[in-house]
Amino acid sequence: MTVGLTVLSGPSGVGKGTVVAAVRERHPEVWVSVSATTRAPRPGETDGVEYHFVDAEEFARMVKSGEFVEHAMFAGHAYGTPRGPLQERLADGVPCLLEIELLGARQVRSAMPAARFVFLAPPTFEELVRRLTGRGTESPEVIARRLDRARIELAAETEFDHVVVNDDVRAAAARLVALMIGS
Ligand code: ADP
Ligand code: 5GP
Repeated sequence: MTVGLTVLSGPSGVGKGTVVAAVRERHPEVWVSVSATTRAPRPGETDGVEYHFVDAEEFARMVKSGEFVEHAMFAGHAYGTPRGPLQERLADGVPCLLEIELLGARQVRSAMPAARFVFLAPPTFEELVRRLTGRGTESPEVIARRLDRARIELAAETEFDHVVVNDDVRAAAARLVALMIGS
């Protein structure tokens, strides 16, 4: 049985949030880190559940006082992983999951090289565009920025220890958890 820290990354719109929600629902033994972000909540998102929604001043204060394991800008907003809760869970031997973008994943790799790095890949690029557009939560400009970033993220797939294709949400969640804690 393998436990510890797993980092899940992959292009915007591939379904990371959806797969992580399936993990939360079906695998309460996995602890999912709640990031801080300066972006506004989407409809249905609750402060403290999907994210800690903070303003730019608060985020800058957290960076300055060393409260993040890693942090990065993504499509015009700041995102970061709070250090304290993660360290506590890891010390308790709880399997921990971070869902973060590529630059943050690289920072975690430098700081914690023993972590497991999993890339969530779309079945095809066309399907990625369909999902990102179909979510209906971003303007065309924001979608274009996220697709530019998606091309960069897709090119980094080989940096990861494992690739999980998000064809079916439940199956992808099960494969991710099997990598984390064995089956
Ligand atoms: P991310 O967190 O990677 O940006 P989301 O979880 O928000 O992506 O998913 C983007 C869109 O794709 C959502 O509308 C979601 O319902 C849909 N989606 C996610 N996984 C799948 C899947 N396996 N098959 C079809 N649609 C999916
Ligand atoms: P979204 O705005 O769609 O929720 O997230 C945008 C991107 O930010 C996604 O790729 C998501 O994985 C990433 N992200 C979420 N939280 C963090 C974090 O704490 N750190 C970093 N580096 N990226 C994050």
